[in-house]
Amino acid sequence: MKAAVMRDGAFYVEDLPTPVPGPGQVLVKTRACGICGSDLHLFKHAKQIVETARGMGAAVDDLSRDLVLGHEFVGEIVAFGSDTQGALKPGDRVCSVPFLLDGQEILPIGASKKTSGAYAEFLLLSEAMLLKVNDDVPDAAAALTEPIAIGVHALNKARLQGDEASIVIGCGPIGLAIIALLKARGAKTIIASDPSTKRREIAQRLGASSVVDPTSESPFTTLAGQAPGKPVVVYECAGVTGLLAGIVLEAPKDTRIIVAGICPGEDKLMPMVAITKELCIQYVSYYTPNEFAEALDLLSRGALDWEPMITGRVGLDGVSGAFAALMNPAESHAKILIEP
Ligand SMILES: [Zn+2]
Repeated sequence: MKAAVMRDGAFYVEDLPTPVPGPGQVLVKTRACGICGSDLHLFKHAKQIVETARGMGAAVDDLSRDLVLGHEFVGEIVAFGSDTQGALKPGDRVCSVPFLLDGQEILPIGASKKTSGAYAEFLLLSEAMLLKVNDDVPDAAAALTEPIAIGVHALNKARLQGDEASIVIGCGPIGLAIIALLKARGAKTIIASDPSTKRREIAQRLGASSVVDPTSESPFTTLAGQAPGKPVVVYECAGVTGLLAGIVLEAPKDTRIIVAGICPGEDKLMPMVAITKELCIQYVSYYTPNEFAEALDLLSRGALDWEPMITGRVGLDGVSGAFAALMNPAESHAKILIEP
């Protein structure tokens, strides 16, 4: 099979052996796979990430060489391994949380050298974790299940009461997913902040009630004018050093801050300011299998606007160019799909 193999900061389209499904596994043909911010992060910082993980005592491979990324996929069942039930049929389209059960191991799909991700024509999935994609759901929508699930989880962790004003800082795929989900829940005040004009436009199409360019205006100023005195939830979806400290300084009393942006290095903030204002900082990561299924259900029912999130589509030979475009702030993409 053809795969886009990441090696030392570059991609090479190579022929790899098509994987063979083991017990409980199925072979799936990739139909679409989104490029995730965490893929870009691995691409840029693989060595540093591996060192940090090893420092925390985790046994991890050298992910900078010969890794096949891709964990935001939809595929089509091709073949079943042994010990499978076969409730779904070849040709059925499926999604799955990006983990493969392999004997005693749970392998992260798209972040392990023991199994390939979906930047390839085929990949292995665990039958027990498959979710069927209905016929009328486009591949592109199904491929957004994973980033939408991150948004579902962030909103659940925010324990919304229903009358909050929201500020979403950073309008990459996760920020945009949160905006679309808030809109679907009927939120009235959604202030989106991003330096990119194009991303602000997408945020507005997905349901932001106001958009702000943080290089010239603070979203908290906009908030004060629009929803004075309302409870506030801030979603930090940018992961930029110093951002959290800025939110702590500017947020009104009792603000809940949901941190979804991954800031890779050390960061500082003023606990005394946060204490005085009784702020609540909730860090969020991943989703539960139920939240993943809920994300696919929302997309399947058309409960969520998703099309503006897709800003590009490429084949395997376009992966290098897509990464260059995603890392170039001037191009301001949201989600690029790979269709191998
Ligand atoms: Zn992802």
